[in-house]
Amino acid sequence: MHGIVEERLIVAETIEEARDALRQGRAVLAGGSWVMRAPVRGQALPERLVSVGRIAALSRVEVEENEYVIGAAVTHFALTEALRDVPQLTGLVTAAATSANPAVRRVATLGGNLCCVDFAASDFAPALLACGALVYLETAQGPATLPMAEFLARRAEVLPRALLTGVRVPRSVRASAHQRLPMRKAGDYPVAIVSMAICGGELHIAVGSVEPIARRWTVLEQALDGRTLNPERAAELAATLNDFKGRDGIEADGWYRREVLPALVRRCTAALLSGESK
Ligand SMILES: Cc1cc2nc3c(=O)[nH]c(=O)nc-3n(C[C@H](O)[C@H](O)[C@H](O)COP(=O)(O)OP(=O)(O)OC[C@H]3O[C@@H](n4cnc5c(N)ncnc54)[C@H](O)[C@@H]3O)c2cc1C
Repeated sequence: MHGIVEERLIVAETIEEARDALRQGRAVLAGGSWVMRAPVRGQALPERLVSVGRIAALSRVEVEENEYVIGAAVTHFALTEALRDVPQLTGLVTAAATSANPAVRRVATLGGNLCCVDFAASDFAPALLACGALVYLETAQGPATLPMAEFLARRAEVLPRALLTGVRVPRSVRASAHQRLPMRKAGDYPVAIVSMAICGGELHIAVGSVEPIARRWTVLEQALDGRTLNPERAAELAATLNDFKGRDGIEADGWYRREVLPALVRRCTAALLSGESK
């Protein structure tokens, strides 16, 4: 019995052990909140897993001179606790503190969230896109770094053979905000998400859950560039520059996800401005 359990699941203590296990065809197990629900989604559980939750190097949040370094195995709860006193990262902390429900937030990790390839409603994806984060990976060829947008676009191809080790958020982020619209009650997947950040003087706006992959809203960023930010004006521009193709899903139709964006932009702009003035 012990042998069967060991064969099905091994626990890595180092990044190298996890990387070697991936090479042998094992899938990563982090918090398990997504992997273990595979049967609920009509999918098969992975046959062989490597747990990464005990790798110390993946479980840290560090403030370096130019970056915040967040390990892949940091849970939503731990991220909230570690960064709640950093006002510049209010957007990211809000994403961590308001996603899912308290039980999921205690076990679900940043890496697991970003590596759920078919999950469009990630709160971290738009929050990290807005902050200009870089994603760090350990691949069979060695360490690799990808900008967040490229990681999201390529993760289906990259991930089966790569371990996400963490993300780095530049300390040039001056202020950030995150607004989401859950459909019925806390714990539901968000219908649409808007994250904003001011990075090195530039306004970044990212949208999640509306299309299959989160992305920056560049036409709106350009229209707002150089203007004094105003929530009502930002919402008006969001309505006229809405170039999203909403995805149909269980929580909402695609048209509805598009329609709620101007209101989320108004709220997010107001939250960003109130954070900036603190
Ligand atoms: C009820 C419920 C509500 C939810 N609501 C929200 C929500 O509102 N917002 C939101 O953002 N999320 C939501 N989620 C998703 C949740 O955030 C994810 O389930 C969670 O982040 C996955 O993290 P995990 O550590 O449990 O990953 P796991 O389930 O362990 O793994 C998830 C996937 O990522 C892979 N993986 C994990 N870590 C790595 C790594 N370091 N490198 C490479 N691959 C890796 C695994 O192999 C697997 O494919 C919800 C989940 C549930 C169950």
